[in-house]
Amino acid sequence: MSAPGTRLSGTGMTSERTRARMLARLRAAGISDARVLAAMGAVPRHIFVEEALAHRAYEDTALPIGHGQTISQPYAVARAIEELARGRCLGRTLEVGTGCGYQAAVLAQLATEVYSVERVRELHERARTNLRPLRIANLRLVWGDGYAGLAEAAPFDSIVVAAAADAPPPALIEQLAERGRLVLPLGGPHGQRLERFDRVRGRVVRVALDPVRFVPLRKGRSR
Ligand code: SAH
Repeated sequence: MSAPGTRLSGTGMTSERTRARMLARLRAAGISDARVLAAMGAVPRHIFVEEALAHRAYEDTALPIGHGQTISQPYAVARAIEELARGRCLGRTLEVGTGCGYQAAVLAQLATEVYSVERVRELHERARTNLRPLRIANLRLVWGDGYAGLAEAAPFDSIVVAAAADAPPPALIEQLAERGRLVLPLGGPHGQRLERFDRVRGRVVRVALDPVRFVPLRKGRSR
């Protein structure tokens, strides 16, 4: 058990200094947008993993969060958000695949509003619990199938998907605002690549980015 209050601020391996080392590693790996680095530095990653793994929260690795899912590697989170923020602000943002809620918290530092959809109910609820102490006012969590996007809150200026699909889900392209941008991993178990889709005057322009590794995007909601 932690002493009251120490879980959020962190101690030892979860401290401010450990977080600064994570930022230094992200910089060394090529993340250069100061807004993204500041947002990554502002969110305590250790509160999103089980206490037994908290000492590893600032390593650049994915960690298990239950249901066969993982908290994304810090580099993968920073890389996707940097691409969404390149030359622009995030605006109204949709995240597909809340998982533990970490990336949603980082997005909320930069976006006007964030909607984050998770298909596994228990993960959705756990994310809510994880996020509560951070008191983030511009973040809404939704239990649902993100493959269908979130029609009731569309259109979005930014959409980011935290799980890999074979092709971009059509609903996500449809729910992009004019000048909107979608960043998602595409591909299967033998290789995935982060890709970006920009909606420009009704057309969609595709840009291939770096190789990445994410859990698969699945259709439908699950308990
Ligand atoms: N964003 C998380 C990463 C979670 S891993 C982080 O910050 O670390 C990807 C998540 O996507 C898993 O929780 C998985 O259940 C979820 N997922 C997969 N397919 C989905 C779908 N169709 N709709 C919503 N969530 C989905």
